[in-house]
Amino acid sequence: MTTIKLHNTKSRSKEAFAPIDPQNVRMYVCGPTVYDRAHLGNARPVVVFDVLFRLLRHVYGADHVTYARNFTDVDDKINARAAESGREIGEITAETTQWFLDDMGALGALEPTHMPRATQYIPQMVAMIADLIARGHAYAAEGHVLFAVDSWREGYGQLSGRSVDDMIAGARVEVAPYKKNPMDFVLWKPSSADQPGWESPWGRGRPGWHIECSAMSHDLLGDSFDIHGGGNDLMFPHHENEIAQSCCANPKGEFARYWLHNEMLQVEGKKMSKSLGNFFTVRDLLDKGVPGEVVRFVFLQTHYRKPMDWTEKKAAEAEATLRKWRALTAGIEPTASAAAAVVDALADDLNTAGVIAEMHKLAAAGDAAGLLAAGQLLGLLSEDMGAWAKGPVVDLSAHEAQLFAARQAAMETKDFAEVDRLKAAYTEAGLEVRMSKTGVELVPGTGFDAAKLEALA
Ligand SMILES: [Zn+2]
Repeated sequence: MTTIKLHNTKSRSKEAFAPIDPQNVRMYVCGPTVYDRAHLGNARPVVVFDVLFRLLRHVYGADHVTYARNFTDVDDKINARAAESGREIGEITAETTQWFLDDMGALGALEPTHMPRATQYIPQMVAMIADLIARGHAYAAEGHVLFAVDSWREGYGQLSGRSVDDMIAGARVEVAPYKKNPMDFVLWKPSSADQPGWESPWGRGRPGWHIECSAMSHDLLGDSFDIHGGGNDLMFPHHENEIAQSCCANPKGEFARYWLHNEMLQVEGKKMSKSLGNFFTVRDLLDKGVPGEVVRFVFLQTHYRKPMDWTEKKAAEAEATLRKWRALTAGIEPTASAAAAVVDALADDLNTAGVIAEMHKLAAAGDAAGLLAAGQLLGLLSEDMGAWAKGPVVDLSAHEAQLFAARQAAMETKDFAEVDRLKAAYTEAGLEVRMSKTGVELVPGTGFDAAKLEALA
C-alpha cells in the first residue's frame, strides 16, 4: 500500500501517515461562514483538501474515508448582513450555502461525506460547554461562558508553538470585565431579542465560533480522528481553541492527530483586498469565462504550503495546456490506476506540482491513457468538467507550419506582409501567436473561435 507522508503542523515535520482505523479514515476541515460569495482565497483550502480526500480514497478505498466540513450559519457577520439587507437570516444562509456548493463544484471539488451546519448542532455545543464547566475548564459570567485558558496552560499554544504569555503579548485580545484572563475565549454569549438565540443553562444566547467545530467533529468523527485541515490563518486562535475545547472535554481522546494548513493566496503578487481593487469571487472568474478546471489547475501548480499567486498569465497558460491534454485524451479510456510516479508524488505531502510535471512527461510521450488517469486523480480532465473545451477539436499544426514557412520566406525577401496578415488573422481568431527562432506556436485563448480561424487563414 502507498505510504502517504504529510507535513504535520503539530510536529512541524513530515510524518508517515498511519490512520487510526484504515477502514474509516477520518478528516475534518473548517468550512465557510455563509453570508457572501466565496472569494478566490476561500477556494484554496477547498481544492487542497479535496485533493487529499481523493488521495485518501485512492489509497484506502472510496468507502473507507469520512470527510466532514462544516457550514458556519450562526455568526455576527450573518446577522449584520441580514440587518442591512432586511432579509431573513435563514434565507441568506441557505442561498449562500448553495452558492458555495455550486462554485466549489465548478472547481471540481467533491462534496464531503458530512456537511454539518452549526445551527443543527446547538444541543451538542451546549452539552460540551456544560461539560467543560463541570470539568473546571470554563466558567459562566454575565450571560457568557468563557474557556479558562489558565486551566490548560500546559496544552494551550502547542499547535502554533507559542506560550500563553507570548500570545497575550502579541494578540489583539478583547478585554472584557467578565474575563478572568484576557486570553479566555467565548464559548457562549447572550443574544438580544433581535439576535438569533437558543435557550441554555446560561440564558438565551448563541455559541461562540470555535465551539461548533469541536462539537461537530466529536459527533461525526469521535474522540480521536486522523486529519484536521484549514487555512493557516485559522491556526491561531481558531484551531488552538478547538484543541483546548476538545482535549479538555474528551481527555481520553487525542482530538486530531495530523494538522494540515494551507498557505494563503495572492493576486498578481499582492495580497487580495477590497482596498487594492484586486478582490474577486470564484463566481466573478467563472462569469468572466475562466473555466473552473483552469482555476483548479492553476491552484495545483503551487504546493499547498507555499503562498499561491493567481495571475492572468498562469490562467492563460493553464487553459492552453488543458486544451491540449483534453484533445490528446478525447475518446480515450484511462489506465486502471495512475502511474506509480504520479501517486508517489501526490503521496509525498501532496506534491501536486510534481504530479503536473509527471503529466507533462506523459503527454510528451503520447501516453494519453496514463495522462487521463493522472489527471483524474487530481480531479482534472473529467468528463463533467470539460464542457468548456468542447467544440470542434482543431489541429493547429498546419497553421503553425504555414506561418513558419511564411516567415522563412520573408527572411529571404524582406517582405513581411504575408507574415503580418497571418498573425493578424490568428490573433483575430483568438489565438496567441508565439514566435521563436526555432518555431511557431499558436495557443488558443478564452476567445478562441475555430470557425473564424477557418474563414480568415
Ligand atoms: Zn474550525
